[in-house]
Amino acid sequence: MICEICNRKLARGYCAICGKLVCEEDSEMIGFARICLDCLKSQPELRNYNNFKKYLASKSRLTSFSSVQLTKVFSRISHKFRSDPVYIHIGIDDTDSPYGMCTTYLGALLFERLLEIGDPVDYPLLIRLNPNIPAKTRGNGAVALRFRTNLDKFDSVREITVNLISSYSHAFFGKTSPALIIYITDEFYIDKNLYEIYLNSIRDVTPFSYLNKKLKGITHGNIEIYATKTNSRGIIGATAAIGAVLSDFTYELLVYRKKERLSSPRFIDANSVYEMDKIYASFTFDNIDDGRLLIAPVGPDPVLFGIRGDYPDKILEAFKILRHEDFSLWALFRSNQGTHGHVVKIDSPNEARPHQTIMLPVVAIDVTKKEDTLFINAVNAEWSITGRIFKMQRELQHYAKHLMEGDKILVIGSVHSRQGNKLILNIEEFITINLQPEVELRNPICPFCGSRLKKKSKYTYFCPSCRKTFPHLKKLVILHPRKGLLERKRYESPPRAHRHLTLPSKRLIFRARKLSGLDKPYLIYPMIGRSKNFKPRYIGEIRELSIR
Ligand code: ATP
Repeated sequence: MICEICNRKLARGYCAICGKLVCEEDSEMIGFARICLDCLKSQPELRNYNNFKKYLASKSRLTSFSSVQLTKVFSRISHKFRSDPVYIHIGIDDTDSPYGMCTTYLGALLFERLLEIGDPVDYPLLIRLNPNIPAKTRGNGAVALRFRTNLDKFDSVREITVNLISSYSHAFFGKTSPALIIYITDEFYIDKNLYEIYLNSIRDVTPFSYLNKKLKGITHGNIEIYATKTNSRGIIGATAAIGAVLSDFTYELLVYRKKERLSSPRFIDANSVYEMDKIYASFTFDNIDDGRLLIAPVGPDPVLFGIRGDYPDKILEAFKILRHEDFSLWALFRSNQGTHGHVVKIDSPNEARPHQTIMLPVVAIDVTKKEDTLFINAVNAEWSITGRIFKMQRELQHYAKHLMEGDKILVIGSVHSRQGNKLILNIEEFITINLQPEVELRNPICPFCGSRLKKKSKYTYFCPSCRKTFPHLKKLVILHPRKGLLERKRYESPPRAHRHLTLPSKRLIFRARKLSGLDKPYLIYPMIGRSKNFKPRYIGEIRELSIR
């Protein structure tokens, strides 16, 4: 994805004022947001972070904004359905702006509304896509909903869905290009082209040329796309969300704020989060780290907090422990978060592309530090690799410091740049494969009495007990296992530096159970609500979506 100002360099994000995708050189970070140099030139006061925060707050207080009308920009009818009921899959993306809104919130509102018309065959799905896409607002999330209903209800589903997404999306912001996909099948399957769009969008950049080719290749099911134009960017994420089939999966309960509180600071009792984290340590992840509440986002979006974990009922129990401000709605999503789906295994840096997250074998040369950033300098064949580890990942820096020349490791990180034979990565984790032993040289031992010999000249030693001299001896080489690092171990970033897709090590056992089919996904009731007054109960297994 290229900078829309210089049209040359890789874009790193978008301008929070005008919405253009911009490179590092044509923008500046003001706090957590990126602003392009053109906007800073016309509004220099925004360079001051406090002024920028006031600007954001004034925008996010806007309660009435012009809604957009989404219209049908693509449809593909593969066949007429005879069977009833049918399965309706809805994908939504790109509805928010730096001033508020969140696609998951619209997904939850829509899910609640559609419960009146059809039966959910899955939880609402929170699908994270490639975390390195510069067009993302926060976590590059899209939403899919899957319902079973009678064919004669399809028109009302369509009308409710199009109206809701049209009226709530922040399409007034330059970057926001909302999209909605409605896909209908007679059995519980998806076309393989949709699955391929998902796989590509979680691991790479999905250009419109690829997307359109796949959409035209759909031979199973009928698809309709609603957006403001044929190349609205949101179409990519919304289609990818429908195509998600999850062999490993987690859940996140998202709790949404009351409208009147949106511009005030979030109130969550930190002690209650510590209590919850202690009781549900093995079933939930990324709750709290280094005194930071990771469950709560920063900024003006409607999410109060989210609890991530492996089992839906455990998450609902954890929710009851938390003390916080009044909320308007909660919804339990099934997700690909914490599953490592974004990592592409490659053997040579030749295969690495910008915006990907790769896993690559390298041999370490040394480790250096400049200001707060640590650099793993390494090689792979004729390539030189630099892996950057930032201040926020200080625990990972601590382990990386122990790497020595000749150590074979796998580095996992996002591709920052690739030029000539030089690859720069932002390291997310590393795995030790083969570590050089620590070498100790000691004087030899006397063959007669076992005492440690003393050195007399370059190759001559003598025994202090027997007083014998031994010419032509060399030092003993003693190999010790390495201090500070273990072989074949994963060294991951601390939770506060996790991407949404990062696999937390504490999940490894649950991941294995899910991948092997030991733990199947199941539905519980309720999966959405407006109060904490509920008693979860099991409804049944979730049938695996097949790919045709
Ligand atoms: P939120 O989580 O609140 O919805 P976000 O961080 O998900 O915000 P979006 O506003 O959805 O960000 O913007 C991401 C945009 O990037 C969307 O238009 C989406 O379609 C697009 N996109 C996502 N993944 C890819 C990809 N792999 N290739 C190209 N475009 C992508």
